[in-house]
Amino acid sequence: PQPDPVRGAAVKAADRAHVFHSWSAQELIDPLAVAGARGSYFWDYEGRRYLDFTSGLVFTNIGYQHPKVVAAIQEQAASLTTFAPAFAIEARSEAARRIAERTPGDLDKIFFTNGGAEAVENAVRMARVHTKRPKVLSAYRSYHGATAAAINLTGDPRRWANDQGSAGTVHFWAPFLYRTAFYAANEAEECERALQHLADTIAYEGPSTIAAIVLESVPGTAGIMVPPVGYLRGVRELCDQYGIVFVLDEVMAGFGRTGRWFAAEHFDVVPDLLTFAKGVNSGYVPLGGVAIGGRIADTFARTPYPGGLTYSGHPLACAAAVATIDVMEEEGIVEGAERLGREVVEPALRDLAARHPSVGEVRGLGMFWALELVRDRETREPLTPYNASGEAAAPMAAFAAEAKKHGLWPFVNMNRTHVVPPLNVTEAELKEGFAALDAALGVADGFVG
Ligand code: PLP
Repeated sequence: PQPDPVRGAAVKAADRAHVFHSWSAQELIDPLAVAGARGSYFWDYEGRRYLDFTSGLVFTNIGYQHPKVVAAIQEQAASLTTFAPAFAIEARSEAARRIAERTPGDLDKIFFTNGGAEAVENAVRMARVHTKRPKVLSAYRSYHGATAAAINLTGDPRRWANDQGSAGTVHFWAPFLYRTAFYAANEAEECERALQHLADTIAYEGPSTIAAIVLESVPGTAGIMVPPVGYLRGVRELCDQYGIVFVLDEVMAGFGRTGRWFAAEHFDVVPDLLTFAKGVNSGYVPLGGVAIGGRIADTFARTPYPGGLTYSGHPLACAAAVATIDVMEEEGIVEGAERLGREVVEPALRDLAARHPSVGEVRGLGMFWALELVRDRETREPLTPYNASGEAAAPMAAFAAEAKKHGLWPFVNMNRTHVVPPLNVTEAELKEGFAALDAALGVADGFVG
């Protein structure tokens, strides 16, 4: 790409004058003007190129500008750009069929939304109408989106400013051995105690008041905490015991991120509702949805569902999903992510951890990895305090700045960096990324002790 700093400056100036950005104090941010992107890379107007270890916000599972998906969107635009949701449209039918064929168990009906939060919002609505109960349980250390119910379910500081009547949501601790809430010494103990804690929470909240338990199959933004074997099965049993709807949020973990089409497969569990977005079409056109199991589908077989969206199943978004799923199948992208994760990413991250005292833990699976950075491996004191900003967050800012200097765009959340590149990143690209991470961790090491 040819550098074009004049154009870049104009893009930046209009952004600063008129674009209101998510989650930000508008005058305290400095967004990079991006000129283009392809595969696992994007570049700015100065001609600097970055390897994207974030996949955007963990959604470009097939990388940027995949030619087959771009062509499918162009073809759909040429034939039928848009149409109202109450009609049967080929792109929508085919997207729903492909998704239903890949979701586990009897999750065979698809309600389409524009993104993840709306998917969670509608899953909660389905559960409340189905059970005629008001409350929803979710975990601390979670993210479910920024609309009303979804942000109330979220278990991270982004909820705090939105806590204006939490609409019947109750939080509990899910398993996370490295920072155990249960004084557990091993995964089995963590699993057993977390399930007992959830059973106690249900008992004290009143089972007959609880519509749903909403969990990320593998919590993503909160730290990629792979649940211990048996935990999600145990939650499934509690839900069955009390007639509670089990919602698995696979907005981030779904569509190959964990090396399977859906993370639920790793844990041999089938939820009543499964939410998805992001990887369904790599974010080429906004799309999310809820995959609905038999019992809840039956509830709405002869009773109208009280919810809907003008753009539910938008033809452009659905055509992108059809092409994305076909490309992932043809190119073996899910299997490739599993293999690259196991053979390349995990060993490389363990090697970095062995050489850098700032790395407290490496965890993940597939193409879904977190490095937890600490000041002290023994005490596990985080490199930056929980929800730090400004000066207190400086060590992670220095880490990120060093990575960028080496051409790597890192994912940073609190005291963690996540390694979440496109699933079809190459081995050579990964190696380039690990070299940059090596340099950036050298900077983090400077804050140890
Ligand atoms: N659920 C999970 C697990 C997510 O990671 C996200 C977004 O990061 C959401 C829901 C919200 O999705 P969206 O931002 O598309 O509304």
